[in-house]
Amino acid sequence: DKIRLGIIYGGKSSEHEVSLRTALSIMKAVDANKYEVTPIYVQLDGTWVKGDAFAEQVPQNIDTLRLASGDPAKKSDSLFDIAQQVDVIFPVVHGPNGEDGTIQGLLELVNLPYVGTGVMASAVGMDKWMMKTVFAQAGLPQVKYVGFLRSQWEKGPEEVAETIERELGYPCFVKPANMGSSVGISKAKNRAELVTAINLAARFDRRLIVEEFVSVRELEIGVLGNEELVTSVVGEIIAAKEFYDYEAKYKGAGTELSIPAVVPAHVAEGISDIAKKAFQALDGSGLSRVDFFWDEKNDQLYINEVNTMPGFTPFSMYPMLFQAAGVGYSELIDRLVQLAIERHADKQ
Ligand code: ATP
Ligand code: MG
Ligand code: MG
Ligand code: MG
Repeated sequence: DKIRLGIIYGGKSSEHEVSLRTALSIMKAVDANKYEVTPIYVQLDGTWVKGDAFAEQVPQNIDTLRLASGDPAKKSDSLFDIAQQVDVIFPVVHGPNGEDGTIQGLLELVNLPYVGTGVMASAVGMDKWMMKTVFAQAGLPQVKYVGFLRSQWEKGPEEVAETIERELGYPCFVKPANMGSSVGISKAKNRAELVTAINLAARFDRRLIVEEFVSVRELEIGVLGNEELVTSVVGEIIAAKEFYDYEAKYKGAGTELSIPAVVPAHVAEGISDIAKKAFQALDGSGLSRVDFFWDEKNDQLYINEVNTMPGFTPFSMYPMLFQAAGVGYSELIDRLVQLAIERHADKQ
């Protein structure tokens, strides 16, 4: 029997287009003898539409995907109805309302297996402040940081700035706690820039963090599994710009990926080890891409973050890291679907 696979994609998020591309890639890659795919599209305004299942007639581009996604004018099935029509869901929605545990919670309620991390790991992985608290508790090496609320900043900017200057100094990195794709992130070299950077980040979130700036190489690794974990090779991001910002990520502005990264064996081993510990600290499942900083001069590794729903086209870092480790894109999807089904059974 074919596995009836529902793919949820799109989303009310700045990463909507990225998600469409990922969904299309997955649909093209899965074996039609093994899967019957149902497209479930979350439109930009947040409404859901469901298309008819297809086994062979897979959309070939974003426009045909939109057509196959169902008629937005028609009343769509509720998630409870959809739950009767599929066996497992692959949610490929990035950012808030996608990889933060909200979709995962909805899927728990309708008792459907789904690919990737559960409610808690998704929520913790989305919030950089909470994630750092968990990493600290797990004894993982990370850069110094200060977390605070927008309301604290608005009431006492002087006090917040002084704390940051005392604890971290300049330059520092200012981030909204709940974002991805470098949205709302900037570097500050002095008080004036710090104020601008915090005001920018505060437009995206009420929870904010500032980190000490480290001059480093940026290394990433993939984790795959539920309770028994495998890691991919390590990859390196070589950004031509000052940092790996939104433009560099999606417009490809001069960014190079080096796979596998040219690093000493003990660094690759350290990364694999810390990545697994971070994944376990969050109670991860399925997949995550774990981002690191490596200070080569002092041979010091820092974990930056866990991304529970990383970019997942065949040209995204996570699938490329596993490709280099011998797990091709279609096989990776098969493994993730099996892990989703196993995890669901394990919970019962
Ligand atoms: P994504 O989820 O797309 O990986 P993100 O929005 O979660 O990104 P980060 O990965 O935390 O954001 O940061 C984005 C980029 O900013 C990093 O890839 C790195 O280039 C730079 N950066 C972030 N924090 C620091 C830091 N403390 N020191 C130096 N550079 C940093
Ligand atoms: Mg991230
Ligand atoms: Mg992200
Ligand atoms: Mg990152």
